[in-house]
Amino acid sequence: MFDNPALNHHHIHLNNSLLFLLYKQVLRKIEEMKTRNLPPETFRTQLDASIKANLTSTQQKHKTKLDVASHFILRAAYCRTEDLRRWFLAQECRLFRHRLENLSRSSSTNNSGLREFLANNDFDLDPVSREEKERLSDKLQKVPGGPTSPGEFINTQYYRVPFVQALELVSRRECYVENGQAYVPLARIVSIVAAKFRVALSKSLALAAGVFGQVAHDEASRIGPLLKSMNSQYTGPGAPNAVMGTDGENALTAATVDALADQSMPLCMQQLHQGLKRDHKLKHQGRLQFGLFLKGAGMSLEEHTLFFQREFTRIMTSEQFNKSYSYSIRHMHGKEGKRASYTPYNCMKIIFGNPPQSGVEHHGCPYKHYDDQNLSALLTKLKIGSVADRDVIMSHKKDGNFQLACAKHFEVSHPSATSVDGVNLDGVGNHPNAWFSASVSYHNAKNGGGASSSNIELKQGQGVAMAM
Ligand code: SF4
Repeated sequence: MFDNPALNHHHIHLNNSLLFLLYKQVLRKIEEMKTRNLPPETFRTQLDASIKANLTSTQQKHKTKLDVASHFILRAAYCRTEDLRRWFLAQECRLFRHRLENLSRSSSTNNSGLREFLANNDFDLDPVSREEKERLSDKLQKVPGGPTSPGEFINTQYYRVPFVQALELVSRRECYVENGQAYVPLARIVSIVAAKFRVALSKSLALAAGVFGQVAHDEASRIGPLLKSMNSQYTGPGAPNAVMGTDGENALTAATVDALADQSMPLCMQQLHQGLKRDHKLKHQGRLQFGLFLKGAGMSLEEHTLFFQREFTRIMTSEQFNKSYSYSIRHMHGKEGKRASYTPYNCMKIIFGNPPQSGVEHHGCPYKHYDDQNLSALLTKLKIGSVADRDVIMSHKKDGNFQLACAKHFEVSHPSATSVDGVNLDGVGNHPNAWFSASVSYHNAKNGGGASSSNIELKQGQGVAMAM
């Protein structure tokens, strides 16, 4: 489970990459639910549903094989940078723990499923003998949340582990400690196994990072490109045809974009919008990030060109604009070059992308790329939430939880959004277009449209796909 793919005699076809995307979809769901800070029971139910929808095969042996293969392939893809490793480690550990807890819960009273898992994975846990258990009987039964009756105590298997491996339980006083050993009932072994998994996976990712460059080079024509692009491939809701868009007369236009920027754009896009309005131009990365976002929000090629032309031609002639910029806008919309359908950037791509040059470029994610002082000043200037709210946002930023900071921004600017009909919060904190779409729906529902009342109607199910 930790080090060995155990797929020695199996072939996994690289063109089955959709399967790895489905696995990644589950990891993204975990991240999204954590971002939304769901209650544990809701988290469990929704994760079970996501696993069922994405990782269920009619044949158990195929399910396990593909699960393991997906894990190891994503492990290879996500070892490349520290940020990617941190993301993968966090989601994988949550998934692993969830599955272990399910195993523990679904097993019979003697936890046969969990025992089997431990045995199959060579877990070196030291079972407490019956004699020792009797000697410690009073102390073990006094541990809160343990066996509730003498009969249950007799049937409970305890294990002895060095207390440093059970720090989570020790800190919650959920195990008995004697002579540096923690005495842990089988049901609570989950916590220890999960901690071991984290350490093992963290080491493996660091090791993989060391050889990634060589493997990607040696396999340049086969798996190198796949691994390098995997973290930016789309896995959002409804893949591969998920959409956030507008249509017909109600589309996002050059006329409505200014009002909607203040009302409904996440901080990254607000900064790009303001940069464009102030400088009357955007550098290459900014044009891409903002242009694809607008396209993803349903702005047509004509309106996109009109909006940019209106700003750019304040400092240049129309001829200059047409010569230097209209081609790239048409390219973004798939009308030039290889006519590809380019997708808007997700938060991961923006956060891990090239940082903006201060004062000159406006792309990137303010939560990641601004220093504490600048971000704090910006939040205050924009009057985002209360002082206490801004403290929470800043503390997420300082902890490196940029997407949590962004989700908090959404939460404080859209009070009670979870209970407003028609507001889909999936993807808020993971994708700027999801943030925008949720915000527009919120204002439409709350105020009969707010800034966008008669001008925009966001729809899901048509339009362009988002890359997550
Ligand atoms: Fe934009 Fe995402 Fe950063 Fe929020 S977390 S500001 S949506 S890049």
